[in-house]
Amino acid sequence: MATAGSKPNVHRAELTPTGVAQIYLERLGVRLEGQSVAGVETWLRVPEWSLAIDVGRSPEPIARCKHLALTHAHMDHAGGLAQYLSLRQLYAFEPPTVYAPAESCADLQAIVDVWGRLHRRAFDWQLVPMRPGDEVDIGGGRRLRALPADHVVPALGYAVIERPSRRKAQFATTAPDVLRQLAANGVAITEPMERLLLAISGDTLPTVLDRVPELLTAEVTVMETTFLDARRTVADARVGGHTHMDDVLARAASLRPHVFVPYHISQIYTATAARAVFVERLPPELQTRCRPLLP
Ligand SMILES: [Zn+2]
Repeated sequence: MATAGSKPNVHRAELTPTGVAQIYLERLGVRLEGQSVAGVETWLRVPEWSLAIDVGRSPEPIARCKHLALTHAHMDHAGGLAQYLSLRQLYAFEPPTVYAPAESCADLQAIVDVWGRLHRRAFDWQLVPMRPGDEVDIGGGRRLRALPADHVVPALGYAVIERPSRRKAQFATTAPDVLRQLAANGVAITEPMERLLLAISGDTLPTVLDRVPELLTAEVTVMETTFLDARRTVADARVGGHTHMDDVLARAASLRPHVFVPYHISQIYTATAARAVFVERLPPELQTRCRPLLP
């Protein structure tokens, strides 16, 4: 590989890929960026959290994220892993932490080890096996939780959560000086609450919408919606372990996120055609909350 210079973290503007979807999530004060075309490539990132999700290819912006959560080991989601590690080394960024379905970790490690031998330099990274329900600290007071997914290979979704403390309900109207006195006397006047910031489904059958509450209740949900209309049937979606817009529409009433982000849209739709389908097919209430991950 090329050697890291004495001035790391260089950046040439033309390394920023074109056609990247950028969604500003006002409620969270962060950007969701990425490219996602089913079978071709999927990568997303929230730069403010230094968190990437999937690395189907590894353009330069992904390498800037210290945390990488892999949903599954299909090529269009994980094929850029070694390049991601290589770019971080080139830029002299600190070694990243990669989270992946536990069943896939031995093979992912083996592939990276082979690349390290080819480069005559081992990659410095940490690989964390994840199972549904596992949680890890990703800094900034946030935690990453693995969610179940139903795909044709071992797969996970992820949720990003916060646990800020809030005043207990029984003290909602208590005067500040009384609260101070209570606290001084050792009374616990606050309790932790869970705030579900973002949930992402990964590649999955729509069954997750019936059994993974995080996808229904997160403030922002990023949901696989590979096929959008009759150009491909629900049965076509099932062949690859995927979700069809018909499946989402059947569950629209239970989708409560403030922002709903369909992604992993098939290459049979241009971005313009896909947007037209969302306008045509989504009920108005869901449409106002829908921000598809399209360039
Ligand atoms: Zn897949």
